[in-house]
Amino acid sequence: MAVPFRRTSKTRKRLRRTHYKIAVPGMVKCSHCGELKLSHRVCKECGTYKGEEVINK
Ligand SMILES: [Zn+2]
Repeated sequence: MAVPFRRTSKTRKRLRRTHYKIAVPGMVKCSHCGELKLSHRVCKECGTYKGEEVINK
């Protein structure tokens, strides 16, 4: 049902929208070092992917 826009105060509207944000997508813990990393990406902390070292530091 339509609600007259003046009925919802700016504060009410903004407070409602504070819950709209989502956490950083696709972050998982690295199985090697436990750091947060993007899933399906090489871990930038230890340079491993699927338990194999890909990047040599
Ligand atoms: Zn790692």
